[in-house]
Amino acid sequence: MHSLRDVLKKSEETRVAIGHFNISDLVLLKAVFAAGRELELPVLVGLSEGEREFVGTAQIAAYVRSLREEFDFPIFLNADHTHSLAKGIEAAKAGFDSIVFDLSALPFAENIRQTKQAVEALKAINPSMIVEGEIGDIGTGSEIHESAPDLSKGLSTPEEARQFVEATGVDILAPAVGNMHGMLRSMVQGETKKHLDIGRIAAIKQAAHVFLTLHGGSGTDDQDFRKAIAAGINIVHINTELRVAWRRGIENGLAAKPDEVVPFKILPPAVDSVKQVVASRLRLFNGREMAQRA
Ligand SMILES: [Zn+2]
Repeated sequence: MHSLRDVLKKSEETRVAIGHFNISDLVLLKAVFAAGRELELPVLVGLSEGEREFVGTAQIAAYVRSLREEFDFPIFLNADHTHSLAKGIEAAKAGFDSIVFDLSALPFAENIRQTKQAVEALKAINPSMIVEGEIGDIGTGSEIHESAPDLSKGLSTPEEARQFVEATGVDILAPAVGNMHGMLRSMVQGETKKHLDIGRIAAIKQAAHVFLTLHGGSGTDDQDFRKAIAAGINIVHINTELRVAWRRGIENGLAAKPDEVVPFKILPPAVDSVKQVVASRLRLFNGREMAQRA
């Protein structure tokens, strides 16, 4: 079985991106796992602090480990947006493969100081732990926003990226390159798309020589995704698109069987609805669109 680090290295060589999908219940987890297996592509499952609080940190680690072992399948687990070392240590001890240590709201020097400490502490628990650091401002909340926040002042520069990576020793960097957490209502309706600063991604990759994650991928233009991956993005996070599909799937499942009370008879349309989104994103991130059309 390959490790997440092996899969990351391979993604760098072949210029594809690993799909990272947030989950907070069994419907979402089943959908991500089913899509990955169907396409035979590795998947990274992520849970933020709030999502871990709901599901259980040790419990999700045990569940994902059992899927990986029983099916001999590369499904990995990430502690997304972790804001304190204590929460990071909890995830590391539970057996998570990677941790997104996010102090991007702090001043740059303080972000560097505390992220460096976290890298050392987390790798002391598990030397193969992959630690991601965050710089810049991409907003908060993987949900539907009524208006776009002004993130133009929070864009990351190549020089900041280089400094941060050298000083902290992170394995992965998440920069602000025009991406944004959550979706605008017009994006959910498919009327508008997010656009990325591709030149900035390429310059950051060249300056920092590190794996790069794109957060807040939901609602991004397909062509921008392809260019961003070609420019050096290794992991793409999708959350809000899944949450929208989850809600629609649950509503459809309930509406289709108004007298039904058996969860495993109501929920399959929700699994299928999320699975379709995951599969379509995985195909795009891995250059498999031709296979879809064939
Ligand atoms: Zn994120």
